[in-house]
Amino acid sequence: MRILVVEDEVGVRDTVCALLKSENYAVDAVGTAEDGIYMLKENEYDGVILDLMLPDGSGLDVLKKFRTTGKAVPVLILSALGGVNDRVSGLDIGADDYLVKPFAPAELMARLRALVRRRYQQPDPLIRVGELEINTRSRAVKRGKRMIELKPKEFAVLEVLARNVDVPVTRTMLWERIYDWDYDGMSNTVDVYVSRLRAKIDGDDEKPLLHTIRGVGYLLSASRA
Ligand code: CA
Repeated sequence: MRILVVEDEVGVRDTVCALLKSENYAVDAVGTAEDGIYMLKENEYDGVILDLMLPDGSGLDVLKKFRTTGKAVPVLILSALGGVNDRVSGLDIGADDYLVKPFAPAELMARLRALVRRRYQQPDPLIRVGELEINTRSRAVKRGKRMIELKPKEFAVLEVLARNVDVPVTRTMLWERIYDWDYDGMSNTVDVYVSRLRAKIDGDDEKPLLHTIRGVGYLLSASRA
C-alpha cells in the first residue's frame, strides 16, 4: 500500500512518515500544495494524508483539484484547524476523514487502515482467499493451520494481490504500490518477491492460489483452476 503525505511542518511530516514506514507502507512526502497536486497526478496511491495550511495554499485546493480528476483515492485531512466549520468544509469538498492535531499515532493508523478497507470494499481486516487468511492489521498470514512468515515486501505484494482478489494485477501496479519515489532498484525485483511469496503460500500438495497470467501479471484467486 502506498501513501502520499502532504505536510509542510517537517517534524510532523517525519513523524507521520516514520509511523507509516513502521507499518510497512510505501510513503511519498511533500511539503507544498503544488507538489501534492503533482504527485497525485503522477502516481497511484492507496491513501493521502493531507495538511490544510500549506505555504503556497490550502490543502482544500489540493483536494478540490484532485477530486476533479475523478481518481478515487481516500483522503484523510490532518489539520490543526479543529473547528466544526473547518471539518465540515473539508468533508464536503471530498475528504473521507478528518483528524485534528495533535493526534494519537495509533488513531491515525487505525483511521488510515479503515479508509483503505473502505476503498477496496473489504470491511473486515481479515481477508480470506480459499484457506489463506491474511490479517491486514497484525500482518499475520496463515494457510489452513500453517502459519506463514513473510518478509515486509512479500507481505506488501500479498496485500496488493489480496485487495484485488480475483482480479489480475499488473507488474507495474504491483511495482507502484510497494515502492515509493525514493526507490531506485530494478523492476524485476517484483517478480522475485512474487516467486518467494508463491513458494511460501502455495505448498507442493496445495491448490495454487497465486497465478501468473501471461502477458498481464499476477492473480490471487481460490476459484481458478
Ligand atoms: Ca501546515
